Amino acid sequence: MPDCDVLVVGAGPAGSIAAWEAKRAAPELDVVLLERDRVVGLPVRCAEGVGDAGLREFVDPDGAPWVARRITRIIFVAPDDTEVPVAEGRTVAWILDRTRFDAFLAAGAAAAGVEVRVATEAAGMERDPDGRWHVRVRGPGGNEETLCARLVIGADGVEAMVGRWAGLDTRVPARDMESCAQYVVQNVQFDPDAVYLQFGDRIAPGGYAWLFPKGVGIANVGLGIVALRADGRNAREYLDAWIARRYPGSATVGATVGGVIVNPTIKQTYGDGVLIAGDAAHMVNPLSGAGIVNAMKGGRLAGRAAAAAIRVGDTGARRLSAYHQAWMELLGDDHRTYYRIKQALDGLDDGFYNALARTVNGIPEAKRSLRKVFAHALVKHPQLIPVAARYFV
Ligand SMILES: Cc1cc2nc3c(=O)[nH]c(=O)nc-3n(C[C@H](O)[C@H](O)[C@H](O)COP(=O)(O)OP(=O)(O)OC[C@H]3O[C@@H](n4cnc5c(N)ncnc54)[C@H](O)[C@@H]3O)c2cc1C
Repeated sequence: MPDCDVLVVGAGPAGSIAAWEAKRAAPELDVVLLERDRVVGLPVRCAEGVGDAGLREFVDPDGAPWVARRITRIIFVAPDDTEVPVAEGRTVAWILDRTRFDAFLAAGAAAAGVEVRVATEAAGMERDPDGRWHVRVRGPGGNEETLCARLVIGADGVEAMVGRWAGLDTRVPARDMESCAQYVVQNVQFDPDAVYLQFGDRIAPGGYAWLFPKGVGIANVGLGIVALRADGRNAREYLDAWIARRYPGSATVGATVGGVIVNPTIKQTYGDGVLIAGDAAHMVNPLSGAGIVNAMKGGRLAGRAAAAAIRVGDTGARRLSAYHQAWMELLGDDHRTYYRIKQALDGLDDGFYNALARTVNGIPEAKRSLRKVFAHALVKHPQLIPVAARYFV
């Protein structure tokens, strides 16, 4: 039976970084990365936006071929279409080309010595009495084989199975699952240096709508909704209505749908010989729905924890629990706070956001930073003070 030290399931950002880090931390280990799709990075089910600081922890985006656009402004749009531009006077974010970006990360792992297998799906796994995982995999053409691994990292995204196979609780309450729809839209007028985020119960109940530029006149345009709060329409129907109203005359191509888990990190991201990272472990920021950099940060911790555990010959759950602790200290505890803020904001109606937009527009644009917007909002809208007091203090 083919043998490896670390088997990583899923070559998204979490999996590629996990495999890369494991190999970097312990070059003597055999690390295998499985991806069920025929190529890494396709299909794209993502708006492709990432914050500047988080991305730079891993890679340099300046001039990189996997970058589509540099972003210097955020334009919040109230339910009544009042626009609130916020410029931080620096690069705030990037719009990636995820096909190239994900492929770049997997290629980096491969160059470090990771064996990357595409068109290969993990189909189930069992642990033997010696503590090794026997993972059934289906390769190109449907060929089946079993891979034996000392440690498995589940980085298999929203529809994750590795965690379940290992007996971990990865369930998502329906209220915390956003259904998203997105098109690539052309022939639209917008500021190509800005991302647009629009809120509103009639626009995107439980979520928000976005326009993320990929170039001049071309953008990812989509939205996420919580089905439990919707009026019977699905995400695609909400999106069609929004585009027809806000961007009439635009041309839409490349329709995609997908789920975003806006639930805090699962209670246990580890088990005997197993670690879970990225969307599979609910490492998405529950307030913004951003998951790319979070997945990379989770993957980095998982790769390092795997390498260290194998080196000392102890892949038991007790030792691997340090991975969970490290993640909670890094971001997991913050995500719990963001989740509670999201719940509190969910209770505020469209009228509140319309009033907030007008208040914030009272701050001169040159002085409008996210921090100032929030401070100003607290002063002018005392309804927010309990939210801030409960969740920030
Ligand atoms: C519409 C939409 C818009 C989004 N926009 C943004 C955004 O703008 N910014 C942002 O930060 N986040 C965004 N996200 C979230 C972001 O896409 C995810 O958080 C991120 O991709 C998570 O990375 P990951 O590596 O955990 O999982 P994924 O990127 O989903 O990668 C998991 C990989 O595992 C593979 N896989 C699954 N099962 C198996 C198996 N059994 N065997 C082998 N391979 C398997 C999959 O094919 C996939 O390639 C968006 C999500 C959606 C749906």
